[in-house]
Formats: sequence, structure tokens, C-alpha cells
Amino acid sequence: MRVLGIETTCDETAVAVVASRIGGDGGDILSNEVMSQIAQHAAYGGVVPEIAARAHIDVLERLIVRALDAAGTDIAGVDAIAASAGPGLIGGILVGLTAAKALALAADKPFIAVNHLEAHALTGRLTERLDFPYLALLVSGGHTQLVAVLGVGDYKRLGSTVDDAAGEAFDKVAKMLGLPYPGGPHIERLAEEGDPARFDFPRPMFGREGADFSLSGLKTAVRQEIARIGTPTERDVADLAASFQAAIVDVLVDRVRSGLRIFTQSGGQPNGLVIGGGVGANGAIRRALTRLCAETGLRFVSPPPGLCSDNGAVVAWAGLERFARGMTDDLTFAARPRWPLDANAGSLHHGKA
Ligand code: ATP
Ligand code: MG
Ligand code: FE
Repeated sequence: MRVLGIETTCDETAVAVVASRIGGDGGDILSNEVMSQIAQHAAYGGVVPEIAARAHIDVLERLIVRALDAAGTDIAGVDAIAASAGPGLIGGILVGLTAAKALALAADKPFIAVNHLEAHALTGRLTERLDFPYLALLVSGGHTQLVAVLGVGDYKRLGSTVDDAAGEAFDKVAKMLGLPYPGGPHIERLAEEGDPARFDFPRPMFGREGADFSLSGLKTAVRQEIARIGTPTERDVADLAASFQAAIVDVLVDRVRSGLRIFTQSGGQPNGLVIGGGVGANGAIRRALTRLCAETGLRFVSPPPGLCSDNGAVVAWAGLERFARGMTDDLTFAARPRWPLDANAGSLHHGKA
């Protein structure tokens, strides 16, 4: 079974073709074309919705052709067409969603509306054999949440950020330090040379019951420290980056630990922890989660960075998982700029999950 997946919810235009493997052992990525718009947004220090939507229009058709070519197939050779229908920026979503529906109609193929967060949450099952239930930590520029993945279309949010997303915190702190957008990779690089213990930044929510996150207080603390220093030297910038990253790492690990406790107290035992979202590329976060998992006997499933950040393969895979269970959608399915994962009653024609 092969599914074409289209992703346009934010600043990546992405198209991929993914095939299922016999026996449920993950999937094969036949092609995965990603075009990032970062350069077009960098001057504004963040994603500009109107620029994003227009940029998706400019390249999507070309990427679809390229993804089909690279997969050695044409539209007749795929079994279904999936697109992220939200959450995200409405203008961009409409571009990918409309293209997917048009292709489905013209080629007479089933259409599947995918929740972008669901695509991140199911990535662990694309890259390896992983049975439900498991935990998924989604950390990106727009989202920060811990989810219990109970089945396809069956998700329970254990906690989410009450203010900034993790990637947003990285990007805002990077901006304060005079680093380019997106700031995450720059902070990570500088942190390697800095002293993580020099500044004792707050760890919001640390030790708190539940699995919610809060990151804006940490960002404010960094801002105050920069103001106190005045003009930070290179040394200061590296130490600020290292100390900030250390605080984020501590918070994420603590929240996952707490979420794991909630999970087991409810009588379940997760089969692993999957990380998803662009911040999941961060080496310090990965190493800390690897340690946490080793300590708690949990399997750590860390997809390669290219499958953590936004891409078409994970959308195609989520589409494939739904399609395999008879969950297809009507062409009237509307874009959902807001679409909480728990409210994932997406399909009009539900099969057995
Ligand atoms: P969405 O939230 O809808 O998934 P997005 O475009 O914000 O969209 P991604 O593309 O998955 O999400 O992630 C981008 C974010 O990841 C940016 O905030 C960026 O700074 C952050 N990021 C990327 N690499 C790293 C890294 N090595 N360390 C920390 N943060 C990183
Ligand atoms: Mg992005
Ligand atoms: Fe994403």
C-alpha cells in the first residue's frame, strides 16, 4: 500500500510517498521532498503567514511531481492521498489540502485528512516496530505537548504548554542574543562551548503535578540577565545559551517523568517514548531523554532529525495508518487552523480503529 502525503501547515512545503511493509514493521519512505521557506521568513524573525501561503503555491506542484518521480511512480500508482488539514496557518493549510483533494478527485483515489500533530505522534511507528500505547513528546515552534498515543485516532493529551512552545522559547532567546532565525540550532551550537551552570535560570513547573509546561518565565529570566549584563561578550552569550538550554532540558525531562507517572498510575504501561517536532533535533534534549528512558526502563524512539521537523513522510505515514483502518475522509473536509489532538474525531467515514 502506498500513500502520497502533503504538508503545508507552517513554513515547510513537503511531499512524500510512503509504502507499508508486510507484517506491520514500519514503513518505507519511497520519496521525501522538503522545501523550507526559512530564508523567506528570516528577515522578519518568524513565519509570516501570507508569505508562507504564497510560497507553498509557488512550489507545491513541482514538489508533487518530484516526489512521485523519485518514488518511481505516478498518481495512478498510489492508493490514497493524504494532507495535513491542521492545525497551523490557514492560508498554507488550504494550499496543501486543496491540492490533495483535487488530486484525489481527478485520479479517483481516497482522500485522508491528517492532523499534523498526529503525524508527529505516529512517526515512531514509521521508523520502527512500535506497538500502542506509547508516549509522544511533541516539541516544535508552535507546539509543546506530551501525548498518550493509545491507537490510531486515539490520543490523550497529558499536558501542554500554558504559554510559549519550546521552539518559540529557543527562537526568542536566540533573537535576544542576536542570533539568526530559527535560533534553535544556533543556541545548541553555542551551548556546547558555554557553561550551563553559570546562570541559575528558573525551571518552571519542575516537580509540579501533571504534565503541563511553561516556558515564558524562563525566557523572561534570560532577558533580565542580558539586561543586567548590558553588552554580553562572546563568553557571556555562550554561557547564556548553555544555561538556558540546560533549564529547558531539565523541564522537558521532568515533565516526561511526571507524564510517565500519570500513565502508569492509570494502570497502563507505555511501550516507548517518541520524540517529534523540530526541537527534537536538539542533541542535549535527545541525550537527556535517552538517560531518562534508560533509568525508567522505557524504550526511547528518536526518529532522525529530518523526520522530527515538518516533512511529508510522516503525513503520508499517518494517512497510511488511517487508510489501513478504513478511515478516509470526504472531500468537504474543511481546514482546521485549530485542531486539538484529543478532539481527533476527524473522519466522517470511520472504520474500525
Ligand atoms: P509546527 O509547530 O506546526 O510543527 P514549526 O515549523 O514551528 O511548525 P518545526 O519545523 O518542526 O516546527 O520546528 C521548528 C522549530 O524547531 C524552531 O523553533 C527551531 O528553532 C527549532 N529547532 C530546530 N532545530 C533545533 C535544535 N537543534 N535545538 C533546538 N531547537 C531547534
Ligand atoms: Mg517549520
Ligand atoms: Fe510540525
